[in-house]
Amino acid sequence: MNFDKITDNFDREHLWHPYTSATRPLPTYKVRRAQGCKIILEDGTELIEGMSSWWCAVHGYNHPVLNRAIEEQLKDMAHIMFGGLTHAPAIELGKLLLSVVPPSMRKIFYADSGSVAVEVALKMAVQYQYAKGCPERNNFVTIRSGYHGDTWNAMSVCDPVTGMHRLFGPALPVRHFLPAPQSRFGGVWNEEDLLPLQAVIREYGRELAGLILEPVVQGAGGMRFYHPRYLCEAARLCRENGLLLIFDEIATGFGRTGKLFACEHAGVEPDIMCIGKALTGGYMTFSAVLTTDEVAGCISDHYPNAFMHGPTFMGNPLACAVARASVELLLSSGWKEKVQRIESQLKAELAPAKTLPQVADVRVLGAIGVIETRREVDMAWMQRRFVEEGVWVRPFGRLVYIMPPFIISREELSRLTGALVKIVGEMKI
Ligand SMILES: *Cc1c(COP(=O)(O)O)cnc(C)c1O
Repeated sequence: MNFDKITDNFDREHLWHPYTSATRPLPTYKVRRAQGCKIILEDGTELIEGMSSWWCAVHGYNHPVLNRAIEEQLKDMAHIMFGGLTHAPAIELGKLLLSVVPPSMRKIFYADSGSVAVEVALKMAVQYQYAKGCPERNNFVTIRSGYHGDTWNAMSVCDPVTGMHRLFGPALPVRHFLPAPQSRFGGVWNEEDLLPLQAVIREYGRELAGLILEPVVQGAGGMRFYHPRYLCEAARLCRENGLLLIFDEIATGFGRTGKLFACEHAGVEPDIMCIGKALTGGYMTFSAVLTTDEVAGCISDHYPNAFMHGPTFMGNPLACAVARASVELLLSSGWKEKVQRIESQLKAELAPAKTLPQVADVRVLGAIGVIETRREVDMAWMQRRFVEEGVWVRPFGRLVYIMPPFIISREELSRLTGALVKIVGEMKI
């Protein structure tokens, strides 16, 4: 492997990468192309993709069906404003989405990214409460270890420790944070997990527009899997006390946890739901916020009789077309069996990590495998070791984890899990 060829001086000098220094950045590796489950670097080195480009590329890269959807749409139009105009890609995608999301979701708002979807969801909840005659209900409660995106209000409901509260603290709206549920997915349900939510609702309920959380799987905020019963009980408390329940399914949606949407583990339907990431199979940035007739109706029947949001690229035809192709492909691909197979293989092949002195916990749910280490990992070192082993894994903090494309082969997945166990075992104790 030629490290000079797979790094780039202009990039290092001028391009800002996520969560790293602009002057002394962590190394970046230059990709020439990506195909199926492989990322091919500038010098020809092939890496097996363990991250699905951050939960997105569930069908792998350069997929002929998704390529064709974009190419066909491009012949008609790449973009057209959604104010006062509509088009088949938006309509057809909408029909398809309504056939797969929880049945109470009836109205769809297309947005441009996950973070924007979260902003839209929070605004929707506040505007609903305003329309209901409760303008004082304008704050939110959430659970710790959550992640909801990097824009202002999304950031305000991210975990205050792993998120960016220390830096932006006084500039952020102050939310109510509950301890994350301690009852684990697949473990015993402990009623006490509910006490903090009960207490916050008792004390501040009349100021709260809603509860926002990631159902069952908390992603970038801690990669935790909690008991679905929490969602059932939280939904009941929200309904009894006039709070809207907002599910952020941006990471969990489209099969990742073994159900099409993670809320299905609990059989609970939200009032508002955000989807994104895998929605377009990782082809384009796109998201949607879905809600009930009740929420949309209440907002629309009261001043100003409209929901006050409208992104320039709302309902972008290319994104709608590729999203529709991706969801159709997913539904016809036997995704459930694929995710189940990945789950059992991850369980079997990551189990040996449990006995490593470096490891605090190993957990698997659906097509997500997590090794939690005792100490923070050295990102630059670990990333390089993974590249040397021919896999692409991007750890953070004390979490070394993978969520591969669903099309990954048994051999490719074994290469990934093997590298994970090997390299975590090389960490200094
Ligand atoms: C990634 C993510 C977001 C933010 O999505 P972007 O497209 O990066 O803005 C929000 N919520 C969850 C749960 C996510 O995983």
